[in-house]
Amino acid sequence: MTIAKTTARTRPDQLRPASLLVHGGTERSGFSETSEAIFLTSGFVYDSAEQAEATFAGSVRHYQYSRFGNPNTTMLEQRLALIEGAEACRVTATGMAAVHAALLCHLKAGDRVVAARALFGSCHWIVSTLLPRYGIQTEFVDGADLGQWREALSRPAALVLLETPSNPMLEIVDLRAVADLAHQAGAIVVVDNVFATPLLQKPLEFGADVVVYSCTKHIDGQGRVLGGAVLGRAKWVEETLQPFIRNTGPALSPFSAWLLLKGMETLALRVEAACRNAALLADFLAAQPAVARVWYPSRADHPQHGLAMAQMLAGGTLVTFELAGGKPAAFRAMNALGLIAVSNNLGDSRSLVTHPATTTHLRIGEAERARLGITDGVVRLSVGLEDPRDLEADLARGLAAV
Ligand SMILES: *Cc1c(COP(=O)(O)O)cnc(C)c1O
Repeated sequence: MTIAKTTARTRPDQLRPASLLVHGGTERSGFSETSEAIFLTSGFVYDSAEQAEATFAGSVRHYQYSRFGNPNTTMLEQRLALIEGAEACRVTATGMAAVHAALLCHLKAGDRVVAARALFGSCHWIVSTLLPRYGIQTEFVDGADLGQWREALSRPAALVLLETPSNPMLEIVDLRAVADLAHQAGAIVVVDNVFATPLLQKPLEFGADVVVYSCTKHIDGQGRVLGGAVLGRAKWVEETLQPFIRNTGPALSPFSAWLLLKGMETLALRVEAACRNAALLADFLAAQPAVARVWYPSRADHPQHGLAMAQMLAGGTLVTFELAGGKPAAFRAMNALGLIAVSNNLGDSRSLVTHPATTTHLRIGEAERARLGITDGVVRLSVGLEDPRDLEADLARGLAAV
């Protein structure tokens, strides 16, 4: 790009993740600023009509318009691609814009989609309600049941969508096995990797074709902005995804991209600290009489513990638990918390707690909740960066109110 010069003297492939999170993708302007500059501009100017012509013809690389790309979104895309180990990335205004673009750019009427039932609410709506309107056939399977995947993928399919660990029950999907079945059926595999973060799980290494993120969660991780990302092979990103994004306009604002770049600088530190806190709190909760059950992937009592640890480097930042006393107990415990806030967001530096049955999973209905194991006693805890002793004391206060 003509307006920015890179000063990196070290090749990205020689750097380790913590260094890539700070330096990856940085391009400095002519002012040699330390921190990435913010390019709050909708458009760009050309030296001449000839340069504009060459840019649109594709023979010169020059920014054209921030709906297509902007120095801040490019820097973020490069940093995300380096940390994921993906060939290419495009960022979007929200995580849902990323999921929507990844699916709609690839699919057409007559195609078939197979998805894990345990999906983020809006992803579930896209698969169950939106895609069928466009003549796309969709089918849900229980993500942990390989027999159901095998059956569903014994017929041709165009795309598989799954989330692992899932929200909120932290169910694990066998990425390698499902990718193999999907590829035999002719499908690409799209993995929503929000819960694992790009640091704890690399779906591409297990055969996935596309990874999507809500950058709103751990990547910002400080509750400030919405953002999304789609990562995959360069050919697919440039030829299939990019035209869809360019022409439908789910562009991320340069300012949000800049905040997400700042978020990435501390991502490894934050995820590591939150995982450490989450593991401690999962053990604490499991020992409480009011708690009937705890789900946390790195605990030996997680139903898919072995698979989880084969795919993930740590248990993650979310802990799900079930109170024996159902909804009244869950509400009493949540209302008695002082430090941990009631909020449906996750992956934040602040610890947050939510009651999925009455919030994030209200709209899927009682029957579907029952299938997913989301009982009225289930509480999802997104663990933040506070001192774990303060978090433990707060949970003890909550449970005492039950
Ligand atoms: C939050 C979330 C999304 C949607 O992201 P937004 O940034 O809110 O649009 C998608 N999938 C999962 C797993 C999420 O947690």
